[in-house]
Amino acid sequence: MRLILLGPPGAGKGTQAQHVVAKYGTVQLSTGDMLRAAVRADTPVGRRARDIMARGNLVPDDIVVEIVAQRIEQPDARKGFILDGFPRTVPQAQALDRMLARHGVALDAVIELRVDEDVLVKRIESRIAEMKARGEPLRDDDSPDVLRRRLAAYREQTAPLIAYYRRQGALHSVDGMAPIREVATEIENVLAAGSGKKPVRKSSPVARIGKKSKNSLTAGRRKAGRGGRKAGRGRNGGMRRSDAGNHRR
Ligand code: AMP
Repeated sequence: MRLILLGPPGAGKGTQAQHVVAKYGTVQLSTGDMLRAAVRADTPVGRRARDIMARGNLVPDDIVVEIVAQRIEQPDARKGFILDGFPRTVPQAQALDRMLARHGVALDAVIELRVDEDVLVKRIESRIAEMKARGEPLRDDDSPDVLRRRLAAYREQTAPLIAYYRRQGALHSVDGMAPIREVATEIENVLAAGSGKKPVRKSSPVARIGKKSKNSLTAGRRKAGRGGRKAGRGRNGGMRRSDAGNHRR
C-alpha cells in the first residue's frame, strides 16, 4: 500500500498514520521525524534544517526529496509506505511521481484530513499552555506564532496539492475533526474500497473527490511486479503526542 496523508499541522496525520501502520503493517515515513532525527544527530542536513524548522518554514525541496528518495529504497519500504508530512509542495509531489514511476509503482490513495483551522489553533494553543503549566518540554516550533506560520505555509505551499491529487483522481477527503476512532474507520473504508475488500461501514461520509476511480489513476502507471513505522519514534518518544488526545498534533 502506498498512501499519502495530507492535512495541516495538528490535523492528526501522525495519529492516523499509526493506526494504518498497526492495521496494515506498512511503514510510516514522516519527513518531520526524519528531519528532527537529523537535527538531533547534527548531520549536515540537520544543520541546514534546524533554524528553518524552528521558524515554522518549509525545508528546501531538494533536502526532503533526497531524504524520501533514500528512505523508500530501504527494504522495509519496498512493499509500501504511508507518507506523513510529504509531499508538502507541488515540486515535491512531482518528484514523488518520478520516484514512483522509476520503481514502477503508484499511489493507492491520497487522503486529506479536513480540519477547521480556527479550532485547530485554539486546540494547539491550549495544549501548549497545558504542557508549559506541567513543565513538560516543548519542541522548538511549539509556539502559537510558529504554529501560525506553519499553517500559512500549509495554505500557501501544501494546499495546492489537494487540486494536484484531485486531478490525478487519487484524492479522498475525510472529516479530520471527527473523533480519532471515526477518522480511522473512514480511512479504513477508503483503503478497503481501493483494495476491493468490504468497507468497514456501509454508509461512509467519506467524500470521494476525484472523478476517476483509484484504479484509473494507477492503471496507466502501474507495472507488473508490485511488490514501519518511520525510522524514528514519535516526537514525544513512543507514541506521538497526538495520541494523547483528540488529534492534538
Ligand atoms: P511535521 O512534523 O511534519 O509537522 O514537520 C515539522 C517541520 O519539518 C515542518 O514545519 C517543516 O519545517 C519540516 N518539514 C517536514 N516535512 C517537510 C517537507 N515535506 N517539506 C519541507 N519541510 C518539511
